[in-house]
Amino acid sequence: MKKTLNAVVMAAILLLTACTNSPKEPKYIFYFIGDGMGFSHVSIAENYANYARTGAIGNDNLSFSEFPVLGMASTYSASNNITCSSAAGTALSTGHKTNNGFLGVAPDSSWVISIANKLQEKGYRIGVASSVNINHATPASFYGHSADRNDYYILAEQLATSNFDFFGGGGLLDPCGKNGDKKSGYALAEENGYTLVHGLGEWNSSLTDKVFLLQNKENRDNDLRSPGDRDENDLTLPQVVEKGIEVLETAEGTPFFFMVEGGKIDWFAHANNPKATILETLDFSDAIAVALKFYEKYPDETLIVVTADHETGGFAMGRKGYSVDFAGLDAAEQAHKDSDGKSYENNANAEKERLQKTNEAARLGWTTTGHCGGNVPVFAIGVGSEAFAGKMDNTDIPKRILNLSK
Ligand SMILES: [Zn+2]
Repeated sequence: MKKTLNAVVMAAILLLTACTNSPKEPKYIFYFIGDGMGFSHVSIAENYANYARTGAIGNDNLSFSEFPVLGMASTYSASNNITCSSAAGTALSTGHKTNNGFLGVAPDSSWVISIANKLQEKGYRIGVASSVNINHATPASFYGHSADRNDYYILAEQLATSNFDFFGGGGLLDPCGKNGDKKSGYALAEENGYTLVHGLGEWNSSLTDKVFLLQNKENRDNDLRSPGDRDENDLTLPQVVEKGIEVLETAEGTPFFFMVEGGKIDWFAHANNPKATILETLDFSDAIAVALKFYEKYPDETLIVVTADHETGGFAMGRKGYSVDFAGLDAAEQAHKDSDGKSYENNANAEKERLQKTNEAARLGWTTTGHCGGNVPVFAIGVGSEAFAGKMDNTDIPKRILNLSK
C-alpha cells in the first residue's frame, strides 16, 4: 500500500515538474515600444479619446491599456538616471545597460546582442518597424552596434546585412553617409536581397521575404507623416504592422518576432506639442490594435508586450487649477490651421509661442523639452504575459521574452 502511495506521489511530482518545465511558448511575439510614452501620455490620450468621441469628461481605454497584465519598468541608463533612446533601446533589445549615446554596445564598446538576433538563430522570422527613421536609435538597437548612435550610415550598413525578413516605416537617415559620398544604404539593402516597396500602391501579395516597406516616393518626408498631417496616400504605422504580419506569417507557421516603434510620440513631446503627442499615442494604439486582431486569431500562440523606452516632456494633465480643457486644445489647433500654419513652419520662436498658448488653453503641462527618468508602463497579453506583471527593470523585458521563446 505504502509503495503504491509512494508511486502515486512520485508520478504526481513528475507530472508537476514536467508542467512547470514546459510552459506554453509564444510562437508569435510582438514587441511595441512607444518612444517617450509615459503613464501620463497614455492617460491623457485616453481622456482625449473620450472627449473626441463624446464631447464629455471620461476615459476611453486604448487598445493596449485593456491588456490583462500591467507592470512597470525602471529606465535609468549606465551613465545617467535619465536615459536616451539608444541606451534604453539597447536595454530593451539586449538586456544590457549602457551609456547614453551608445547603441548595441556595452559601456566598454563591446557588442551586446539583441533578442532579435537570438530569436533569428532559434528560427524565428524577424520584423522591425518604426514611424520614424529605421536607423534611428530604437529600431537600430535591434540590429545595430555603434558607440555613436548618430553614426547612421554604419547602422544602415548593419541593417542591410542583418538578414531580417521585414523592415518598415521611416526611411534611412544619412543613406549616403554624412558627406553624401558613400554608396546608398538603400542600394546596399537591395544588394543584400531586400525588395524596396514604396507605399501600398507598389505592394503585392507575393512579397514574402526580405521586404523594406517605405512610404510613397512622392511623400515629402523621410519618416511616416503624423496623423494630424497626412493624406490618404501616406503610409501609416497600422498599415506597416498589417503588411509586416503578411510578410512574417508564413503558410508553414514559422514563429516570428516583430518589434514596432511609435517613434514620434517622443518627437512631439520634445516639442511640448500636446495635440500631436496625443494623436501619435492614439495612432500607436491603432497599430497595436492590428496585432491584437492577429492575437485573437491565435490566442494560444501569441504574445504582445507594449512598453516605452522613457518618458518625454514631463507631460501632465494639469497646469493650473483643476480643469483640463480639451475643447480649448481643439480650438487652439483649429485657429492655427485657419491661420495657415505655414507661417510657423520655419519660425521656431513663433511655433514655440503658439504651442505655449495651446498648452495654456488646454491646461496641459510640461516640465522639460527633454526626457524624464521615471518608470514606464508595461502592458502584456497572451502566452507568457504573466511574466510582465509587477515591477521590473527595462533590461528584464527582453530576457523574459527570450526565456519564454522556444
Ligand atoms: Zn527623445
